Amino acid sequence: MKKLILNFKSKDSKKIKNPKNFLGGKGANLSEMGKMGLPVPPGFTISTKVCEIFYKDKKRLSQNLINQIKRELQIIEKEVGKKFGDLKNPLLLSVRSGARVSMPGMMDTILNLGLNDKTVNALALKTSNGRFAKDSYRRFIQMYGNVVMGVEGYHFEELIENYKLTKGVLLDTDLDESDWDGLIKDFKRTVKDKAKKDFPQNVYEQLLGAISAVFLSWESNRAKVYRKLNQIPAEWGTAVNVQSMVFGNMGEDCATGVVFTRNPSNGLNEIYGEYLINAQGEDVVAGTRTPQYITKKERIKAKVKALSMEEVMPTVYKQLHKILKKLEKHYKDMQDVEFTVENKKLWMLQTRSGKRTAKSAVKIAVDMVKEKLISKKEAVLRIDPNSLDTLLHPTLDEKDSINVIANGLPASPGAASGKVVFSSEEAERLTAIMQDTILVRVETSPEDIQGMHAAKGILTARGGMTSHAAVVARGMGRPCVSGSSEIDINYENKSFKTSSMEIKEGEIITIDGSTGRIIQGRVATVKPEISGDFSKLMMWADNFRKLNIRTNSETPKDTKTAKDFGAEGIGLCRTEHMFFDEERILSVREMILSKTIEDRSIALNKLLPHQKKDFIEIFKIMSRLPVTVRLLDPPLHEFLPRTNKEINEVANVVNLPVKEIEIRIEELHEQNPMLGHRGCRLGISFPEIYEMQCRAIFEALAELQKKKIKSAFPEIMIPLVSTEAEIKIMKDLVIKVASEVQKQHKVKIKFMVGTMIELPRAAIKAKEIAKHAEFFSFGTNDLTQTTFGISRDDSGKFLNDYIENKIFSIDPFVSIDEGVADLVEIAVEKGKIQNKKLKLGICGEHGGDPKSIEFCSNAGLNYVSCSPYRVPIARLAAAQAELKK
Ligand code: ADP
Ligand code: MG
Ligand code: MG
Repeated sequence: MKKLILNFKSKDSKKIKNPKNFLGGKGANLSEMGKMGLPVPPGFTISTKVCEIFYKDKKRLSQNLINQIKRELQIIEKEVGKKFGDLKNPLLLSVRSGARVSMPGMMDTILNLGLNDKTVNALALKTSNGRFAKDSYRRFIQMYGNVVMGVEGYHFEELIENYKLTKGVLLDTDLDESDWDGLIKDFKRTVKDKAKKDFPQNVYEQLLGAISAVFLSWESNRAKVYRKLNQIPAEWGTAVNVQSMVFGNMGEDCATGVVFTRNPSNGLNEIYGEYLINAQGEDVVAGTRTPQYITKKERIKAKVKALSMEEVMPTVYKQLHKILKKLEKHYKDMQDVEFTVENKKLWMLQTRSGKRTAKSAVKIAVDMVKEKLISKKEAVLRIDPNSLDTLLHPTLDEKDSINVIANGLPASPGAASGKVVFSSEEAERLTAIMQDTILVRVETSPEDIQGMHAAKGILTARGGMTSHAAVVARGMGRPCVSGSSEIDINYENKSFKTSSMEIKEGEIITIDGSTGRIIQGRVATVKPEISGDFSKLMMWADNFRKLNIRTNSETPKDTKTAKDFGAEGIGLCRTEHMFFDEERILSVREMILSKTIEDRSIALNKLLPHQKKDFIEIFKIMSRLPVTVRLLDPPLHEFLPRTNKEINEVANVVNLPVKEIEIRIEELHEQNPMLGHRGCRLGISFPEIYEMQCRAIFEALAELQKKKIKSAFPEIMIPLVSTEAEIKIMKDLVIKVASEVQKQHKVKIKFMVGTMIELPRAAIKAKEIAKHAEFFSFGTNDLTQTTFGISRDDSGKFLNDYIENKIFSIDPFVSIDEGVADLVEIAVEKGKIQNKKLKLGICGEHGGDPKSIEFCSNAGLNYVSCSPYRVPIARLAAAQAELKK
């Protein structure tokens, strides 16, 4: 039978495959440090397997187990030359929980176990330090009384506070031996009172009680909640570490502290931490005393007088420094370490991989490659792609004091300050005169694109993380807080209310799209620093990845941004966004409202030069790279005039009575526009629209060719295809226009025609569709929408219920759903049967989600396309997907 209890020094742990699973994180690392020859107080780990047995055995510790524990204790006793419960030289223990991953829901550590009314005197005598012995005993009663016997901690704290008040002192350290003596009596009385039991004097009863308490805490409510939130299986169980005590509270040459091997906020290769002289365990984090810095440099930087450990205990500091280097070398990662100094002797109590900011994560990974600690591959795998987000946008300067007036969803990261405006026009007007604005809308629609572009940030009262506002804002790299139900917008009064105040148009607010905070006034921001390390890491990632990364973009500005971030083409250029421009929208409306083909052609001819100009610019920026242009997709009514002023304007241009325009608007109304007259259905009904768009594309290419400018490679994409006939008709149309333009301009143009796969039928009939398509681009936003039959724009209302009831573990519009993924795989397989060379990509929001990118990589796609600001994230995620294969 495998040993259920392991001494930290036991060689058996080498035979264990996953030491953390068996010994817990803390235990595995204590044993590892022990074997490295570091000064670890002797001890042993009761494995997670025992936790399982404990629960199977009616929550009891078996006699066999108790015997094993006693045997292990004897080993410790021999090693340290003390005896548990001894009346001359008593051994004291710490009992520490330790699951596979560190879990705040678990039992707190119990220190000084083994003290009772008699051993406390032995300890006093042996150390000639009565105060220390009494202080340790009262701490033990406090912890044990609280954690094992369930007496609320404040009872003890109240007693101490009252005592200090009567004595007229401020600090615990001002209390002497006799003070603690008195308090110990009070503490024991309190335990008896509240727990209806005497404080146990038998040291074995103490020990077994503490061990059982650790196991029981695995099923405490706190732990269960934490497990649920973090998807930790209940079967894992916890281990228990029993360790001989070392004392940081024996006097001025003692201390306890916490230290990182590198700075966790900026990644500098300098140790960073805090310590307290004459203190035990939790004192450093408890906040009762202000800890001091470990290094002199940090102390001086912080302008603090209290001396650093480096200055007070130079020899121990040097030893600690050496050990930290050794630990890093061993674990090949930045470590977060706990230590104690007893009479100038250093003891290591814990090590684990340290939490860090994205900035420091990147720097540490790159530095460690330089230091030959890790390989480039390890460096690339170590960074969470999503965390890069915080490096790509300006963030709030947290040093500024702020007044948060409401909260919403952190829809698009970054921070922005500006004057509140309630319309896109106002945003554009103020931007034109160089003023920063925050566009505040109940929700946004495609009409607001210009305003969103003009504004520094966007705030909406409705809509989720994938609402129009959120998606477009992310695409543009604009900070956005969406769906803030805490704000109440009144367009008429031009103001919005929060629970605490009213903000009028023109007043300044700040939004923090990384946290969802809405803040009164202006807050300073810090510009993102795309340091050399960051680009280096990206370069390594690029060498590993096979997937190409493109961007979704339709403006020259976004295209440039994306290219700077490393985009290798455009995967989705939505031509309709080009229609909303002020100069063009009138012609667009004219086109839509025209009654005859002739009238429509006149309007289309007005639009053609505009579209052509846009394409020329984009094709130039993406020189030699592929650009997928999607022909008109949304239902026409999205472009229709709304206000009377707009209606009058159009009536004038098309020379029709207002009444007639109103009738036409009525006619165009749809019950269910997402499933209505849109996508290639428009191309079927109004081929002249698609013809104009194709002409604009090909003429742009012809012009560039004549000027000998290397242009992008165009891929013309037909949206919302579900049948073979649709794609065939559309493809013929594209080819017809292409040959006309080629003939007219006497040029040869290379291009591709393909389709979006965004309807389940298209995925299932992919083989037939692939007869006429040279590429598929998975439009997974619509594909998710149509696969589930869930409207993305309305899902916010019930998504939370679905997540709470575990129907969805994650929003399927954020991370690709299994069923949608199946459809993609079906389409890939069937499409490839028809056309081996079929080019495959994804252009939904999922193209920027690391988990979905991993799927795309495994499914054999050629590229993913995402918003410009997610390009670096996608590059890294694609590399990781490849490395994980
Ligand atoms: P946590 O998981 O909350 O960090 P630990 O088990 O690490 O809990 O214990 C918290 C603190 O208690 C440690 O940082 C250390 O200061 C103190 N401690 C634990 N074991 C011992 C020991 N054997 N001797 C002295 N102090 C200890
Ligand atoms: Mg700890
Ligand atoms: Mg679509």
